[in-house]
Amino acid sequence: MNSEDSIVIVGGGHAAAQLCASLAAAGVGGRIDLVCEEAVLPYQRPPLSKSYVKNPDETPQLHRGEAWYAQQGIRVHQGDAATAIDRAGRSVTLRSGAHLRYRWLVLATGTRARHLPHLSPSLDNVHVLRDAADAQRLRALWPAMQQLTVLGGGFIGLELAATAQALGKKVQVLEAAPRLLMRSASAELSNHVLQTHRNSGMDIRLGVSVGDFEVASNRLSALTVDGVRTPVDSLLLGIGAAPETSLAEQAGLDCGNGVVVDAGMRTSDPAILAIGDCALFPGVMGSGAIRLESVQNANDQAKVAAATIMGEPHHYEAVPWFWTEQASLRIQMAGLLPKNASCYRRPGKDETSFSLLHYAQGQLRCVESVNAPADHMAARKLLELKLSPAPEQACNPQVALRTMVTPAA
Ligand SMILES: Cc1cc2nc3c(=O)[nH]c(=O)nc-3n(C[C@H](O)[C@H](O)[C@H](O)COP(=O)(O)OP(=O)(O)OC[C@H]3O[C@@H](n4cnc5c(N)ncnc54)[C@H](O)[C@@H]3O)c2cc1C
Repeated sequence: MNSEDSIVIVGGGHAAAQLCASLAAAGVGGRIDLVCEEAVLPYQRPPLSKSYVKNPDETPQLHRGEAWYAQQGIRVHQGDAATAIDRAGRSVTLRSGAHLRYRWLVLATGTRARHLPHLSPSLDNVHVLRDAADAQRLRALWPAMQQLTVLGGGFIGLELAATAQALGKKVQVLEAAPRLLMRSASAELSNHVLQTHRNSGMDIRLGVSVGDFEVASNRLSALTVDGVRTPVDSLLLGIGAAPETSLAEQAGLDCGNGVVVDAGMRTSDPAILAIGDCALFPGVMGSGAIRLESVQNANDQAKVAAATIMGEPHHYEAVPWFWTEQASLRIQMAGLLPKNASCYRRPGKDETSFSLLHYAQGQLRCVESVNAPADHMAARKLLELKLSPAPEQACNPQVALRTMVTPAA
């Protein structure tokens, strides 16, 4: 292979794995160097907070096995990280000291879990959940753990809270905002999630202020919640993630809340692309510049990057979708929640199942489904085709949502 043709992909997550698959399908696997900081081949991240963290025997679900990468001619640099980009010389330096020359460089570096400035991340009983190593650490500690305090009522915090509760732990969730899932779900859905978890015995406190951390023998022994000292057995920080942009910033690429890219995933240097959780892209469904953290976004942006590399540029315009599983709740979302939306409830087959349809300016913009997978699949189709059945029609439980998916003539 001529090194002038090579494609270097930095990151070993969903976006990198899909990009390898798309480029291999286009017959250029032999041009790829995949640089993965983690010592594991790219694997599925969603199970980490669901089945994987619960089951001591579960192994990471690899996107593809070692043999596949070898067959495609993809050179995987496992357990090594990219540390610097030389844009003028078109090369990347790895922690091991290796230098890789590139024609195309793709940053798929994902996010890093946020920490608290006054709380050391190295305390024995303070955890984050971002990768398989984090989940393994938690798995090893379950037997001795009595109680889990979760700081943050977002998706990952709530998934782990539900998992811990299923394992018989006493769980407390502390959220600073006035409701759960504040950044990503409607108030109606947040309420349902809150009630479901509270009914199951989970202690959830909203609008709290957390401060003063008491540390003894490298353990967090207590924290102050609304001025009251509260003992801690184990703490999970579920306070979100920040895009991993350090390489891009060092290389002088435009960055904001992510690496800035155009709709073809090109950064401010046209030889460098960025995809997945780390990419700040021009937006979809009229959103304006946005960064999304979901498997769908990582996969679909990887496909667009592959097309850009193969000289068949596409514009990224996929309808966003996402799922989360928390105890009895299987929540699926399609579209983006607009501001000032009108919400309509579509009943499901029983009380535990329904969908919330959000309209703005008469257009269907987002559907949140709870234990209603058929509604979710139909909603994705409706949104892709930009179809907006009238709310009374869409909320008629006698008629399946999918029957309203008739492509415009
Ligand atoms: C616990 C958990 C549960 C989730 N559940 C869901 C879910 O149910 N549904 C859903 O849609 N999404 C879920 N997500 C989000 C989803 O996993 C992410 O959106 C997706 O993984 C993003 O893919 P990515 O490739 O952009 O980043 P990642 O998958 O995070 O991969 C980035 C990789 O890049 C590596 N890296 C970073 N810097 C370097 C460097 N300098 N050199 C080499 N490698 C580097 C990192 O180590 C990491 O392996 C979950 C995430 C987590 C953490």
